Amino acid sequence: MLETLKKDVYEANLEIVKQGLVIYTWGNASGFDPEKKLLVIKPSGVDYDTMGPEDMVVVDLDGNVVEGSYKPSSDTPTHRYLYKTYPELRGIVHTHSQWATTFAQAKQNIPPLGTTHADYFYGTIPITRPLNNEEIAKDYEWNTGAVIREIYENIGQTPLEIPGVLVAEHGPFAFGDSPAKAAHNAKVMEEVAKMAYHTAILSGGFKSMNKQLLDKHYLRKHGKNAYYGQK
Ligand SMILES: [Zn+2]
Repeated sequence: MLETLKKDVYEANLEIVKQGLVIYTWGNASGFDPEKKLLVIKPSGVDYDTMGPEDMVVVDLDGNVVEGSYKPSSDTPTHRYLYKTYPELRGIVHTHSQWATTFAQAKQNIPPLGTTHADYFYGTIPITRPLNNEEIAKDYEWNTGAVIREIYENIGQTPLEIPGVLVAEHGPFAFGDSPAKAAHNAKVMEEVAKMAYHTAILSGGFKSMNKQLLDKHYLRKHGKNAYYGQK
């Protein structure tokens, strides 16, 4: 079942390794079928060199394995929480990529500093609050999804407007309307984090870009009046 989605998820998992966002097994990509309400995710701890599309695990939103011979990624409850909350998402990627994770560990959001950021993220890439001891002790991965929802609600935006978030003391999650797009956004977030770090060093802190330029760049690529690229 879901053979196309399995292939897409498998390829997104390979892409994040190829792009240098993941070493060892420090990452996972998933995809969601909103009609069947099933997600497809990487198996837990399986070597990227030996896995194939058929090894991807199909899971329902309650966490039952519907198909697959492996256990799903240990982060699956975070993915389930997010697809349940935001059914418009079709892909989620989690990595411990170096620069985005540096911001996550510093508990620092990534303000928009230039058009590279603005082309993809309509404002600050937010940082969640750290999980408390109770949230860590019980249902940790599910609660990671909950703090992501909390920060999007606080800023009044959605994971498709700002397709990346930093979980404090942990690392980045990226989103998309496909697994491939989520992987792409994970790479862009990493580059934006790296540039933001260096920009802050040179300019002695974070000074957000002109809001009009942010609007211009985001809105010419996204939304109903977008005009960038080919129709
Ligand atoms: Zn992680």
